[in-house]
Amino acid sequence: MGKIVLLEEHVANQIAAGEVVERPASIVKELVENSIDAGSTRIEISVIDGGLSEITVSDNGSGMDPDDAVIAFERHATSKISNAADLENITTLGFRGEALPSIAAVSRLTLRTRTAGSISGTGLVIEGGNMLECYETGAPQGTQITVKDLFFNTPARKKHMRTPNVEAGHVSDVVNKFAMGYPGISFQLKSNGRIILKTTVNGSLRDSIASVYGTDMARNMLALEASKGITTLQGYIGKPSLSRASRSHQTVYINGRFVRNRIICEAVEKAYHGMLMNGRHPVFVIRITLNPSEVDVNVHPAKTEVRLLDRLDLPGFITEEVSRVLGSNRLIPAAVISRKSPAGIKPETPFQASWEPEYTTPAADPGKISEIPELEYRAEAAASIPLTPAEPKTATEPETVLEPETAAEPEAAVEPETAARDTVVDPEPVFPWLRPLGQINATFIAARGTDGMYLIDQHAAHERILYEKFMERPEEFTVSEQLLFPVTLELTHQEVQVLNDNIVTLADLGFIVEHFGGDSFIIRAIPAATVKYGAKEIFLDLLDYFSHNRYKISGKALKEKLLITMACKSAIKANDRLGMPEMESLLEQLATTRNPYTCPHGRPTLIHFSGYDLEKMFKRVL
Ligand code: ADP
Ligand code: MG
Repeated sequence: MGKIVLLEEHVANQIAAGEVVERPASIVKELVENSIDAGSTRIEISVIDGGLSEITVSDNGSGMDPDDAVIAFERHATSKISNAADLENITTLGFRGEALPSIAAVSRLTLRTRTAGSISGTGLVIEGGNMLECYETGAPQGTQITVKDLFFNTPARKKHMRTPNVEAGHVSDVVNKFAMGYPGISFQLKSNGRIILKTTVNGSLRDSIASVYGTDMARNMLALEASKGITTLQGYIGKPSLSRASRSHQTVYINGRFVRNRIICEAVEKAYHGMLMNGRHPVFVIRITLNPSEVDVNVHPAKTEVRLLDRLDLPGFITEEVSRVLGSNRLIPAAVISRKSPAGIKPETPFQASWEPEYTTPAADPGKISEIPELEYRAEAAASIPLTPAEPKTATEPETVLEPETAAEPEAAVEPETAARDTVVDPEPVFPWLRPLGQINATFIAARGTDGMYLIDQHAAHERILYEKFMERPEEFTVSEQLLFPVTLELTHQEVQVLNDNIVTLADLGFIVEHFGGDSFIIRAIPAATVKYGAKEIFLDLLDYFSHNRYKISGKALKEKLLITMACKSAIKANDRLGMPEMESLLEQLATTRNPYTCPHGRPTLIHFSGYDLEKMFKRVL
């Protein structure tokens, strides 16, 4: 006789439970998916001890009739697909018919359900996969499932559970994802009896983001809305100032399903190139709808991974649309200290979703600070006095402290900002119109804008200007220029090695280097963008960069790295004194860059103190 036997159904279910039911949060996920598939508009979730003791999910959806309620707990019982062809076109969250039997196999489960058409409902009690009771009962329309004593019959699994707090955190994450994925549905999550998330029926996505991440965060996110054929993108992307050290605040839905997809996240991040510091990641919530046949959701039992068909070029579309949104909004970080946002499971007060901006955005705010009269003067100054980028400031230049002129200016102009702005010939309408007031610590420029005050980091701003200039015509700036006085270098043995390995690439970047004997070398020519006095430093920086990134860099990335280094070395430094015309020219040039808001390393170039912020800091308003 052979050795192979077919496993009994309840053993098979326990095995399946290993994949589907990893922890309480996965049960919540499966139950809520079922509630959504049943057309619910209100879903309430309650967990005790992070769900380890008890999980209840109730909905007002279609409910089940008595036969369906029983058969739903059979393996591969589903009402959502009926044949293999349906797998090509899945429009529901569930389809595998595995969740209910798997959950029931490893817990004590009770169910109450009633359909709209029937007078009485059905009750079920199942323990470790065995049906103990099935009875007729009164019940509200919809379905309520309670799962107790998770893993009571699989002690090995139970051991892997973390503390109730950690599990509650996972549950909260899952419910947050549903809340943002389905703003039209009202969700309520209770943990040990306390409400920790509540959203309204028919709320907007921004409402949901506000209830999950707090209003401050929601306020600093920009709407994204685009379509290509029947593919649509909708959501909110964070301003660069909202960046995080991890990707935990990146949420993507495809056809209503929360998915983890590196390609999509990278496509979004690509649009933030040069706007974020190293190791920082943007925040976003993006909902994608596409033809269900373009995506394979049957890749993983938990259904959070999907495979996309290449022909959509979804990544390209996403990068383009996110770039467009970033390019058409002001991305200036505000000076106010943001309040705490309830992103986890700990808030003391219930958080009711409501999107009520406490104040309007700078662009829409009728200027509380009066408009500046001398617009022509500024335009003229910028045109006639080009900033000399490559040379360091010398002490002979006029030193500018806060100009007395500013105090004498008429402050009484009452024209609202919008009217005044119409007259400004602004090359980049979203960038605020800035009038320098003076230099602070020879490092920052204080400027007045259409609403309030701006502080500009002169080095970061100039770096941005030079970087974009260089990147526009990289060939021109990496062309070799002979040095009148060649620079000699003494290199370490390791540096010689790196140099020998990369001498051709360096020549391509514009550095012509010759061996001079021993460990000595001569730099004969340097790229055109390089400041003469900084050639040696930039060259050594590059060698360093080569030795750390030996196999990772492409020619294009390398050129960019070189030009960033050059922009950095050539830009005005902190402690360089600037005259008023130079400050004006700097701000004027900054306004014409594609991304005026950060330096190429992702540091902010300017910070905004709106009239409202200032009033708040001085406690004029509360
Ligand atoms: P799947 O969701 O993959 O179909 P499940 O095991 O999660 O498999 O559920 C089995 C079936 O039970 C579903 O197809 C659905 O018909 C029914 N069902 C489960 N939960 C609910 C609910 N909350 N409301 C109505 N029907 C439900
Ligand atoms: Mg399901």
